[in-house]
Amino acid sequence: MRRLPRLRQLALRSTLSDGTTIDDRDKALAPTATDGTTAFRHRRLEVFNEPPHPAYVVWELTLRCDQGCRHCGSRAGVARPAELSVAEVVDVARQLADLGAREVVLIGGEAYLHEGLLPVVRTLSEAKVVCSLVTGGFGITQELAAAMAAAGMKMASVSVDGLAETHDLMRVPGSFVGATQALGRLKNAGMGTGVNTNLNRLNRHDLEGIYGYLRDQGVSGWQVQITVPLGRAADRPDMMLQPWDLIELLPRIAALKRRAFDDGVLVMPGNNLGYFGPEEALLRSLTVDGRDHFCGCFAGRLVLGIQSDGAIKGCLSLPGDSYIGGNVREQPLAEIWDQSAKLGFTRRLTVDQLWGFCRECPFGETCLGGCSFAAHAVLGRPGNNPFCHYRARHFDQLGQRERLVLQSPASGAPMDHGLYRIVLEARDAPDPSARLDRAGAINRPG
Ligand code: SF4
Ligand code: SF4
Repeated sequence: MRRLPRLRQLALRSTLSDGTTIDDRDKALAPTATDGTTAFRHRRLEVFNEPPHPAYVVWELTLRCDQGCRHCGSRAGVARPAELSVAEVVDVARQLADLGAREVVLIGGEAYLHEGLLPVVRTLSEAKVVCSLVTGGFGITQELAAAMAAAGMKMASVSVDGLAETHDLMRVPGSFVGATQALGRLKNAGMGTGVNTNLNRLNRHDLEGIYGYLRDQGVSGWQVQITVPLGRAADRPDMMLQPWDLIELLPRIAALKRRAFDDGVLVMPGNNLGYFGPEEALLRSLTVDGRDHFCGCFAGRLVLGIQSDGAIKGCLSLPGDSYIGGNVREQPLAEIWDQSAKLGFTRRLTVDQLWGFCRECPFGETCLGGCSFAAHAVLGRPGNNPFCHYRARHFDQLGQRERLVLQSPASGAPMDHGLYRIVLEARDAPDPSARLDRAGAINRPG
């Protein structure tokens, strides 16, 4: 396979179809609306050429959760031992502002179950750092929504994993109603609202239905990603998409995105959904004729993850403890960011560190193996990613497909993962997991 010439990749990276540069486009799309509508269009592209700094932060305020979903990567439910106190989280928020953070996404567990939520939102917002929430929405009362808005939170994204039956099957009974009420309450409080969805074999048939639902709820953004076998999802391998499922799914998502432009909803793929299929530009762009594309993993380069016990990673979704670069209880955040090789591993990543199919891929120099955590969750290290549209189509054209077969299960810790091997087989070989019913896939661990 031939690699794209380096110069062409750089041109792709910085110039859009209408001749404007990424910088021009992002200036035009900088957040301006108080309802958060345009803020959902604010993208990471504008900082691509800046030196490493924690521009985008995902912060698990607590591992406490009121739902305990069956596909939760962090196995949320009870708090981690020794979570940061209110005073400590406020101090971390100040450090983030000092380091030039642009946007901090608060998650959990459920971030609203930590007493420091509102003080953190206030601290960040006073420092002009955009602060948003990702939530299952179960415990969002109108009072809480109003308090978050008053503290300076502009946006919230509610997790919706299917229509009512599927969503409640993956979460807890009543959670779909809870998510719907939360969207209404957040909107009533004046916040911009979005929905995020993890796609897997249980809910992929609901895809178009979810879009109709969220459009009717009046949300302005929808982030779609795949469920990766981390944490409790790792206990349910039959629920996971197989790589060839992307061949059918990506065009459906792209078709929805085209529709969504007309409806005023921005559909964006998560970093683990891709890559480089015929729909790549449409999926990653802010406009119907945009030319954006995936540009590699920015963990520890422009992205930072904070665990509720103060542990710091380049991206919160990176599995296990091996990516922890330090703890804010022991070192200033700036020192961890500057000095930890574990945290900054993508700053030195080159195509020579890719392996398997990705090593020879023509998009390798640009893509660098896709999402690091998704690749690590199945094959034990990043740099070779079977969850890839280009790759699945490549094998399909040869009459083949790659099937992921679980070799060793996950240990049972937050963000743990099992190990899979890749079986290359005929495109029409029997699919053992296709025989499982919905209840079997969700209830049967391992
Ligand atoms: S994930 Fe791997 S195979 Fe797919 S486009 Fe990226 S480098 Fe190529
Ligand atoms: S590991 Fe995946 S989600 Fe995390 S920064 Fe890298 S590409 Fe993004």
